[in-house]
Amino acid sequence: MSDNTVPDNGKTDVVLVGAGIMSATLGALLRLLQPDWSITLVERLDAAAAESSDPWNNAGTGHSALCELNYTPQKPDGTIDIAKAVNVNEQFQVTRQFWTYAHENGILPDVRSFLNPIPHVSFVHGAEHIDYLRRRRDTLVRNPLFATMEFIDGADEFARRLPLMAKGRDFSEPVALNWTQDGTDVDFGSLTRQLLGYGTERGMTTLFGHDVRGLHKESDGSWTVKIANRRTGQKRKLSAKFVFVGAGGGALPLLQKAGIAEAKGYGGFPVSGQWLRTGNAELAAAHQAKVYGMPPLGAPPMSVPHLDTRVINGRSWLLFGPFAGWSPKFLKEGKVTDLPLSVKPNNLASMIGVGLTEMSLLKYLIGQLALSEADRVDTLREFAPVQRIPTGSWTSPASGCR
Ligand SMILES: Cc1cc2nc3c(=O)[nH]c(=O)nc-3n(C[C@H](O)[C@H](O)[C@H](O)COP(=O)(O)OP(=O)(O)OC[C@H]3O[C@@H](n4cnc5c(N)ncnc54)[C@H](O)[C@@H]3O)c2cc1C
Repeated sequence: MSDNTVPDNGKTDVVLVGAGIMSATLGALLRLLQPDWSITLVERLDAAAAESSDPWNNAGTGHSALCELNYTPQKPDGTIDIAKAVNVNEQFQVTRQFWTYAHENGILPDVRSFLNPIPHVSFVHGAEHIDYLRRRRDTLVRNPLFATMEFIDGADEFARRLPLMAKGRDFSEPVALNWTQDGTDVDFGSLTRQLLGYGTERGMTTLFGHDVRGLHKESDGSWTVKIANRRTGQKRKLSAKFVFVGAGGGALPLLQKAGIAEAKGYGGFPVSGQWLRTGNAELAAAHQAKVYGMPPLGAPPMSVPHLDTRVINGRSWLLFGPFAGWSPKFLKEGKVTDLPLSVKPNNLASMIGVGLTEMSLLKYLIGQLALSEADRVDTLREFAPVQRIPTGSWTSPASGCR
């Protein structure tokens, strides 16, 4: 067997499905912990990180619960529940420890290409929300993970830190911020490629342009993985001790095919996120932060509006969104049959149940789908109320499925 081919008998210790951040991370970890295991990664597209892990398909927030207000809800008694924020932040610290170790050991040689410091900020307006934000900061700051968080409610300080958001703003409506200086912007695409590079340099086989079409558990506990070359149509089988389904939106159909009990009852409802973005240097220079607002009523947590600095290929951009989109595809490069084919007798009841109980989500989605380009720019004005947004500054080509 050469370094980058599967042996003729198709045997491999591990199959990783998908070349996104999940498989890339696990592949690198396995290379470190079990260097003698053979690993085969199968990706249906011709490139790594081309779905959700692509930097244009997510906001690149190193989720550390510094700015996302949905992680710190107010309890009925008026106190702030920070349990989720602490848990999320602790997980991010573990991630940072892994990246530090990986950098020091040559696994991630180019940290600046995927990790950049950027303040994480929560933004509210109106007296009631400002009161919440003040109490949120007072509660969080007692935990060492959030000790540096500041509360800012003065117009001058607001304008000094966030010039783009201050320009043209009517400060007679009070606004406030929770500001944490040591947040991060993460380019998951670059990170994925470096982790995969480490794996492939050490013998991991990568099959791009290959679809995983079936998964079957044999009586001896091994897995038969059916794959097809999307260019030639050639089909073959792999036999693996372990399979990791890091297929993002493609995971549900594969888990259903595997017939495992854990997949029963699960359904998928493909809501995508779309963004406005600009590479206008003047606008990008006037906003150096990730600023998260309050979630709209009925909106899922991932739809909280935010205006983000993104650093991609060494250049600063601004991203604003996400706006919810909908299609029956589970992946950007998926098929319109993804959703209908995922409906099975074992998940029909749970899917109908969600449809009946999540009316506010449905209303929110319909409202989002009805938004025109001009409506989207109006939403942006809540964050950046400049009198005139330069024509052509903001476009909306970026999107991702979740
Ligand atoms: C709008 C939006 C905003 C987000 N913002 C953030 C954020 O700010 N911070 C954050 O941490 N996360 C964010 N996320 C989430 C994050 O992007 C995803 O959780 C992460 O990228 C998922 O990685 P993955 O490897 O699981 O999937 P993916 O990156 O989607 O990779 C899955 C891969 O599997 C392949 N595949 C699928 N089916 C098959 C098959 N049958 N055979 C072979 N290959 C297959 C696909 O082609 C794809 O390359 C956001 C996501 C969205 C949509």
